[in-house]
Amino acid sequence: MKNTADVIIIGSGIIGCASAYYLAKKGVSVIVLEADDSIGNGGSSRNGGGVRQSGRDPRELPLAMWGISHIWPTLSDELGTDVEYTQKGNLRLGKTEKDLKVLQNLTDHAVACGLDVRMINGKEVREINPYLSDEVTGASWCPTDGHANPLTTTLGYFKKARELGAHFITGEPVLKIKKEKGSARLAVTPDGVFEGDRILAAAGYETRLLTSKLGADVPMRGKKIECLVTEAEPPMFQQMLGTAEADFYGHQTKHGSFIFGGSTGLELFGQPDGGGAPMSTSIGAACTCRGIMKYFPALSNAKIIRTWAGWTDPSADGIPVIGQADGVHGLYIACGFTGHGFGIGPAAAYSIAEMMTGGKAPVDMSPFRCTRFKAKI
Ligand SMILES: Cc1cc2nc3c(=O)[nH]c(=O)nc-3n(C[C@H](O)[C@H](O)[C@H](O)COP(=O)(O)OP(=O)(O)OC[C@H]3O[C@@H](n4cnc5c(N)ncnc54)[C@H](O)[C@@H]3O)c2cc1C
Repeated sequence: MKNTADVIIIGSGIIGCASAYYLAKKGVSVIVLEADDSIGNGGSSRNGGGVRQSGRDPRELPLAMWGISHIWPTLSDELGTDVEYTQKGNLRLGKTEKDLKVLQNLTDHAVACGLDVRMINGKEVREINPYLSDEVTGASWCPTDGHANPLTTTLGYFKKARELGAHFITGEPVLKIKKEKGSARLAVTPDGVFEGDRILAAAGYETRLLTSKLGADVPMRGKKIECLVTEAEPPMFQQMLGTAEADFYGHQTKHGSFIFGGSTGLELFGQPDGGGAPMSTSIGAACTCRGIMKYFPALSNAKIIRTWAGWTDPSADGIPVIGQADGVHGLYIACGFTGHGFGIGPAAAYSIAEMMTGGKAPVDMSPFRCTRFKAKI
């Protein structure tokens, strides 16, 4: 088995697959090690498909905006795979005065960063999406947001990276990263040792278990969240929807099904067994549906055909770590995407490939440094 490359990537989510693609495109040899038996079986193929800029932390907004203007619109052509990217806007809905204040605050921050987003009233909301109930009194409206298919996007990057020579090995969990001559070079698995000039740890929450032993700890925790899919319905609308209360988000897919995610409010408290396989709970879909019904009565009779869950990796301050692990030569980290790493994933991976090859990321990456976390003493 080939076990040396310029770069060893740990994890085959959208970050691992897209980084492998952008590195291979630059002529860099890559081995991707994936613990699971399937590629992209973490959050990357289980998410709600939102590709949005609005509602983001201002520190990650420039990267999200760059990805939406430079990568997403041409991604299907670039990968030779239909990623179902649909750029028809995002409505973040509100019903109460409190909701509208939350939305106004998010909108003000995003406008200050140069994003085209504005507040609209209930009548304007229903002109954009006539299926929404009269209870909706306003929304933030970002016309350049959208959604895509997480499965085909992640696997599209995988397929293209392989065509360019990247080598993927599944069922290969990395147990530890080891230094050689002061530099992180070795990824140790049950089958052997893989060696690279640089290592990229992109293993979602598990990244922490690997990098903290080398002194690069990313304060984050595992959080399981859920999605549901309905039977195909006739075409109704193409926007991405969300709410000020974050009680549901979702969109209608190209073939007609609706994909919705939501919250039970209990996610951070985990399961009695402490986690493991991401099984959906008995209350997840019920909570999401209760949220949807208040805004979207037209879907009362839509049948749910499946629910699923996936792990996310909320960081202590809600944005990811992307870049070199300060103080650990040869080690790069991309994790902590905090439940919204799909939309920003391609831009994050493009940037990390630049940083790993002496190039320049398209936006200032200093907000993503892993040494930014400081205890309040
Ligand atoms: C239900 C749900 C809905 C979501 N909705 C959205 C949304 O609408 N929009 C949005 O932008 N984001 C959304 N997200 C978040 C998004 O999916 C993630 O932020 C993103 O996929 C993270 O990608 P990743 O590559 O960092 O991690 P992952 O996709 O989790 O990939 C990490 C990979 O590393 C592997 N791994 C772990 N440990 C090891 C090891 N020791 N050795 C080797 N491999 C290892 C795992 O098996 C996995 O394949 C959602 C997530 C979930 C779960």
